[in-house]
Amino acid sequence: MVESLYIHIPFCSYKCPYCDFLSLVNPHIDHWSYLELLLRELELYQDIEIEPKTLYLGGGTPSLISPKLYKRFLEEMSKRVNLSSVEEVTIECNPENYSFDDLLMLLRDIGFNRISFGVQSLREEGLRALGRAHSPEDALRAIELAHRAGFENINADFIFGYHGQTLSDLELELKLLDELPLMHLSFYLLTPYEDTQIGKLYSMGLLNLPDGDTVADMYELVCERLEALGYEHYEISNFARPGFRCKHNLVYWDHREFLGLGVSSWSFIGSVRFGNTRNLQIYTNALKEGRRPVEYGEVLYGEEAYYDYLFVKLRTKDGVRLEELPPLPEDILHLFEIEGERARLSRRGMLLFNEVMLRLRDSILKV
Ligand code: SF4
Repeated sequence: MVESLYIHIPFCSYKCPYCDFLSLVNPHIDHWSYLELLLRELELYQDIEIEPKTLYLGGGTPSLISPKLYKRFLEEMSKRVNLSSVEEVTIECNPENYSFDDLLMLLRDIGFNRISFGVQSLREEGLRALGRAHSPEDALRAIELAHRAGFENINADFIFGYHGQTLSDLELELKLLDELPLMHLSFYLLTPYEDTQIGKLYSMGLLNLPDGDTVADMYELVCERLEALGYEHYEISNFARPGFRCKHNLVYWDHREFLGLGVSSWSFIGSVRFGNTRNLQIYTNALKEGRRPVEYGEVLYGEEAYYDYLFVKLRTKDGVRLEELPPLPEDILHLFEIEGERARLSRRGMLLFNEVMLRLRDSILKV
């Protein structure tokens, strides 16, 4: 049964230089028309049992769409799918979109109970290096307003390891978190994706990103400081106060079923992972013709399914049951920890997740 719905809102007011998500500035479609396409898409999954416990509006910048339209959208959605078991409804927001507290109140009133801010840095230099349009004050104000509007469950996303950042810059930033009413934090290491501006500058040798040892020290520092502040490090990049793990993301990491709606979104149903087109025009045309806008799909079985299971479960602190672990290649043995009946990656193992998984892939699939 599908337990989570992810909804991709691709609109942004500008393109950040590091971003490889599908985000469109000035697309030729109005907000309601796009939301209507999402509803049409949902109708095409009536043969699937869907009873979501979580809804997640990600992007892009979902907060660009007015709460009034979301109200109508959620009402229409509830005519198509049973929303009575929904426990967590998240909306991603950019701090600069929040000049009015009533906007946040409205979001709260129509049922959003978790808000996730793309803060990225609380230092002016960090925000400039990342090409963000907001200031540290905007971010602090947005968090404060959300708290006052009654959001208890507030997340902030951060990026570390960007051009020019030092360990002491990061240390200063982490100190600022102490005072904030945040229940959840995500700290992502900057990846210079090829197709992004930052990726291009990096490949031309024009960016001075911290070296591997500094990045490892930065990750250690983030984990240590956040744990000292009372956040549980429960996934490679995610930290939560007790009781505030992100229920939506746990569905991904528990290898449970979810449906993604919207251009570029991914789903996992049955033993199939499938993804929608990243092209808004193709997405629109498919739905107007009554077709699912799916462009990629992979049926997982045998060793592939086993590897896929390990790939999501080993991201988390809970890891896997000991007997689920394959024989480990000797060179990555030290990156695992065994506790009672469970096995998981150590902190160092989490930092080296991609390398560890490649080694496991080779050993499981014998390629
Ligand atoms: S606001 Fe978010 S989704 Fe939009 S371009 Fe920036 S990082 Fe990407």
